[in-house]
Amino acid sequence: MPITNSYVQSVYDVTKQRNPEQAEFLQAVTEVLESLQPVIEKHPEYQEAGILERIVEPERQVIFRVPWVDDQGKVQVNRGMRIQFNSALGPYKGGIRFHPTVYPGIIKFLGFEQIFKNSLTGLMMGGGKGGADFEPKGKSDGEVMRFCQSFMTELYRHIGADADVPAGDINVGGREIGYLFGQYKRLTKQFEGILTGKGLDWGGSLVRTEATGYGSVYYCDEMLKARKESFDGKTIVVSGSGNVAIYTHQKVTELGGKVVAMSDSNGYIYDKDGINLDTVQLLKEVQRKRIKEYCNEHPSAKYTEGCKGIWNIPCDVAFPSATQNELDKESAQTLVKNGCIAVSEGANMPCTPDAAEFFVKNNVSFGPGKAANAGGVATSGLEMAQNSQRMAWSFEETDKKLQSIMVNIHQLGQEAAEEYGTPGNLINGSNIAGFVKVANAMIAQGVV
Ligand code: NDP
Repeated sequence: MPITNSYVQSVYDVTKQRNPEQAEFLQAVTEVLESLQPVIEKHPEYQEAGILERIVEPERQVIFRVPWVDDQGKVQVNRGMRIQFNSALGPYKGGIRFHPTVYPGIIKFLGFEQIFKNSLTGLMMGGGKGGADFEPKGKSDGEVMRFCQSFMTELYRHIGADADVPAGDINVGGREIGYLFGQYKRLTKQFEGILTGKGLDWGGSLVRTEATGYGSVYYCDEMLKARKESFDGKTIVVSGSGNVAIYTHQKVTELGGKVVAMSDSNGYIYDKDGINLDTVQLLKEVQRKRIKEYCNEHPSAKYTEGCKGIWNIPCDVAFPSATQNELDKESAQTLVKNGCIAVSEGANMPCTPDAAEFFVKNNVSFGPGKAANAGGVATSGLEMAQNSQRMAWSFEETDKKLQSIMVNIHQLGQEAAEEYGTPGNLINGSNIAGFVKVANAMIAQGVV
């Protein structure tokens, strides 16, 4: 749906003028603005209150130097950042990403998406995101620790349990959260819930590790139910082999699906009899090795260099769960030709806009990332609630809450899509449902 409303177009033009080099951010803004046109037309109060102009501009952006010393004694410098996008619904909440590709355009796209995602969870969380252009691959534990300590030495003054609560994202898992938390505590003398994804012995929540992958499967299950289908006997392709991909595999297998392919940033593995998750977990979670090495243990599996070919593997359901823009229109066409009926975005914005549009037009049930992968931040919200109460809920109780949040997010998207004239389009529905709540809160809180 192109932008046809002149007011919405003018908001986009100013955003582009202000952020000319930030392609990923502009891509995310375009998708949301396109979806919101019927809402703006029906509710002039949003235009009068300048909601769109305000929502595309972060409340605060902090960029800082992260100096650290490597194992050879050489000083290294990275760039760190935290973008606090919108606090209408609660403290800023969103992950930290360590990857060489990190720059403000990536963190702003992620922070912007996070506003609507967090709103959809129904929990009181604003949107933010952070990161650094640091590559942890090939670094020793000591180097990662020194980097995290230096990163937190600046970040600590900008966050707080009721102000901004970061979490993990690409390359920021339990190890990094531990180092970051330790340094925060050392600097402030406070043991408080300033990060989520913490270890279970010191304030973490059960299910947080599994939450994004499980949530993406629960969401997809709702999409399948809506077309009177289930995972039983389905062939599944999951890209990535990180946190989201691993727990997507685990849950989808539990529900009767068979995962035949997974990947990392170098290439993908295929096994028609199903990928063994224990081996992937050992390689990726414990040994931090490449997915290629899977074939040493399982000679029946085939490794192919390069990531894109994974979408040529015939499957019923696809879970792009690695990174942004990893699935383009050509891959979408191949998936549809091969009979794929559902796509759930485990990663943030993994499908290019024309790929997503192609899925929607070709009757593929399409779960956009801000809805489908909201289970991670939802469970982070549950971790914050447990920290505030000084309580720890059981796995079953937390998992049940996660599942009901995902069912609700799917329903909200469906209802809004229906109400605004594009039934079944969960991109529009999720953008609209996420937006309305934030917009109403912004109006209530005045021009701030
Ligand atoms: P991890 O770091 O655990 O795993 C990332 C996976 O994606 C790895 O297999 C990695 O391969 C692969 N990957 C990273 N960059 C690229 C690239 N440029 N091309 C191809 N593959 C790549 O991260 P997560 O699993 O946590 O995150 C995956 C996605 O899910 C991201 O988009 C993230 O924003 C999103 N997400 C994560 C949430 C969470 O709770 N963790 C919550 C919501 C969304 P390699 O090892 O080779 O780098």
